[in-house]
Amino acid sequence: MPVLLNRPHAARRAARYFVEQFSGRSLYAVKANPSPALLKLLYSEGITHFDVASIEEVRLVRNILPAAVLCFMHPIKSEAVISEAYHEHGVRVFSLDSMDELEKIERATGHAEDLTLCVRLKVASEFSQISLASKFGIDVDESTELLMRTRQTAEIMGICFHVGSQAMTPLAYVHALERVRTAIVEASVTVDIVDVGGGFPSIYPDMSPPSLNHYFSAIHRTFEDLPISYSAELWCEPGRALAAEYNSLIVKVEQRRGNELYINDGAYGTLFDAAHIGWRFPVQLIGSGSDPATTEYSFYGPTCDDMDHMAGPFILPENVKTGDYIEIGMLGAYGSAMRTKFNGYGSIDDYDVSDEPMASVYVGDNLDRTDRENVVSFPRV
Ligand SMILES: *Cc1c(COP(=O)(O)O)cnc(C)c1O
Repeated sequence: MPVLLNRPHAARRAARYFVEQFSGRSLYAVKANPSPALLKLLYSEGITHFDVASIEEVRLVRNILPAAVLCFMHPIKSEAVISEAYHEHGVRVFSLDSMDELEKIERATGHAEDLTLCVRLKVASEFSQISLASKFGIDVDESTELLMRTRQTAEIMGICFHVGSQAMTPLAYVHALERVRTAIVEASVTVDIVDVGGGFPSIYPDMSPPSLNHYFSAIHRTFEDLPISYSAELWCEPGRALAAEYNSLIVKVEQRRGNELYINDGAYGTLFDAAHIGWRFPVQLIGSGSDPATTEYSFYGPTCDDMDHMAGPFILPENVKTGDYIEIGMLGAYGSAMRTKFNGYGSIDDYDVSDEPMASVYVGDNLDRTDRENVVSFPRV
């Protein structure tokens, strides 16, 4: 069976970076990787707030971390779920993007007066690899009435958005914050929290984003310039950036057919994104020493389904053979979390290791790179 490698030191380093460098509060987006061990170590590094999006995530985090602050940032919930979250698990922070949802929250919490409500705005996803633009969020043009009504119910009111996952330039946040500005001005409401969501990038083959400090400084400067009170808080909800470096995966080559490798994990397992959205993860052949990686391969997963195919290309030495092992990197976010039991696969072993992940946005040159495309200078666009 495939083996998942955990790198606690890499997740700790990521958490410390956000806690120390982001001038505001960082919520961990649990869906990226709900592993209890990861949740605990992020918490121990100062990530005390968690972005949860289902009642199962609420129960999970509450169970593991009784003192954590849970923020229910899914804008469409059932009343039963809101009620359980509020009354049984102490959830006070909810997001919404419609009048309907506001009324649900009011009813389900018994018209509570201690709510923090974040109105989710629709923003562009054009700078991100994975769109989160079409499903949730209210258009700025239509947000005035909702903001005014939410202000009446909320003890603390926020505005939130999500620029899409793996945002390749800080400009994504600057543009989104400009929409926040328009919404605030048009509704003339007091806003206590601005939550810039997730989307902070990690490093993958062909995807080398600018350093995170450029994202943070762009966000900080644009935030400071918003028409909000001096005491307003800045929040973010990283998932990928906190989790990506935490896991890699060791798979076995069960068979080689030309440049197609039949491996023991795939589209219904840890490699969902590699199959379904063609994501290219970094790879290395275990024990290949100095053999140069020169050959392009694609992978087939273990299930009987044609769709269980990862096109790559994944670059490995020319002499890969049946029985070899391959490490696939950067699977801590949306990798480990995607595993199913389809066709009898999905079991996995896991081990903690202390070597470095295949790439890190938190070490060496990557900590402050301005030599990459997409870096823009601020404060003005
Ligand atoms: C998925 C999600 C996140 C995390 O996004 P990343 O791109 O992994 O950082 C944060 N907030 C919300 C509301 C989400 O749906």
